[in-house]
Amino acid sequence: EPLDALIAGLAVDVPDFPTPGVVFRDLTPVFADAAAFRRMVDGLAAPALSDPRAAAVADGRAGPGFDVVAGVEARGFLLAAAVALDAGTGVVPIRKAGKLPREAIAAGYELEYGTAALELHTDAIHPGQRVLLVDDVLATGGTLGAAISLIEQLGGVVTAVSVVIELTALGGRQRVAPHTVHALWTT
Ligand code: 5GP
Repeated sequence: EPLDALIAGLAVDVPDFPTPGVVFRDLTPVFADAAAFRRMVDGLAAPALSDPRAAAVADGRAGPGFDVVAGVEARGFLLAAAVALDAGTGVVPIRKAGKLPREAIAAGYELEYGTAALELHTDAIHPGQRVLLVDDVLATGGTLGAAISLIEQLGGVVTAVSVVIELTALGGRQRVAPHTVHALWTT
């Protein structure tokens, strides 16, 4: 079965969550399915292995095409940890404002109503480090845009951005450009 069909068959649409009028794509059944989880983790890492930019930046360095995996709170953590463990790299959490205990940088972004901020420990990424960024859903792109900005502020090189679902109607891909987002299921 193709991976997009597998994900589409397991994800559940939840109307009016978290607010009336929004249809939330609940991925928890995809995470809970062993075969789907395995294939998602492989699929999220794949673009970092095949992207020619990843190879160019790698500059002869051995390994999976990235030095560390960054995941966005909270569902991105589940994915990033699995990808990192499988690839033999470490994992770095990009958190909602106020959660990290030590010196951190922040990046704000627009929400449908109001603004939010993500934070990253200043010593979490080193200059030149190749980062695979993962999250569960690309909607408006505000979240991934802020995450990329944090990684790049610390001198990290985003070699690939991977999500499970891209909701195309919200135009998030444009917001994250010039970075390309690799989505396992585009809908
Ligand atoms: P964006 O910033 O692109 O508008 O929203 C993406 C962020 O919101 C992601 O971190 C994602 O977890 C969450 N998100 C937005 N819409 C959905 C949805 O329909 N389902 C899930 N699971 N997460 C969503």
